Amino acid sequence: MTVNDAISQLKDIIASSSHLVAFTGAGLSAESGIPTYRGEGGLWTKYDPAKYANIDYFHKDPSYYWSFFRDVRYPVLKKAQPNAAHYALVELEKRGTLIQVITQNIDGLHQEAGQEDVIELHGNTRRIICLDCGKEYTIDEVYGMLKHEHPPSCPCGGRLKPDVVFFGEPLPQLALEKARDAALDCDSFLVLGSSLVVTPAAHFPRLAKENGAALIIVNLDETPLDTIADLVIHGKAGEVLSGVIEYGGNSINWD
Ligand code: NAD
Repeated sequence: MTVNDAISQLKDIIASSSHLVAFTGAGLSAESGIPTYRGEGGLWTKYDPAKYANIDYFHKDPSYYWSFFRDVRYPVLKKAQPNAAHYALVELEKRGTLIQVITQNIDGLHQEAGQEDVIELHGNTRRIICLDCGKEYTIDEVYGMLKHEHPPSCPCGGRLKPDVVFFGEPLPQLALEKARDAALDCDSFLVLGSSLVVTPAAHFPRLAKENGAALIIVNLDETPLDTIADLVIHGKAGEVLSGVIEYGGNSINWD
């Protein structure tokens, strides 16, 4: 099947769907300039994810995370803008077809694009919280604090931590329950830019498929669930969705 045939099949599936769920991973934001963990693009190789994204290491040496935040994460986040795929999902939500976005991403770009209903399975790196008093900080505030104090701390004396799920931490229970409900409630489940190897998040596509939904996977590389999917498109999420969702007017700039 050619990519154009696959895109036209995806168009038909979306047109006939009334309860579409989109499940997004790091690949969705690759076209926004945010590197994935797996696949091409080793921008983050200077810092080791086994250290900056590990809860035990964070408690042992929080300054490692905050150096990574200052040198890599903050500049990348400040530059990143939502891409065509994020905007296409907003459009589908407005049309009433898309009932839920479930994301593994922590970059907040769905909300930046205007998405109303997003389940964040792994948190959001733009929120930073005090582990003692719960006060919330923006990334700009903490970036400023880092010029004077490294690692940064709350005036109450508490340690600051990004509101993300580090390796070694459980996923938020409420987000898991909502994602499960959405997977059971949908008629089509669209995976975009996820390697589907990170669990328990990757269980949801299988659950939706077992419950009768059509499973569509759009990803650059193969995934372990390609064999059970109804449609697989190996391509870039933004390019594929640009070919699928048509817009009236000139409100969206696809450049
Ligand atoms: P992953 O890094 O394991 O895999 C990304 C997948 O996206 C790869 O299989 C790759 O082939 C594919 N890909 C790359 N560019 C693409 C594109 N333009 N279009 C479609 N597919 C593309 O990502 P994951 O499965 O989401 O799991 C990684 C974990 O890392 C997640 O839990 C997430 O929290 C975290 N993470 C988040 C971000 C982010 O928030 N943007 C970035 C990196 C990692």
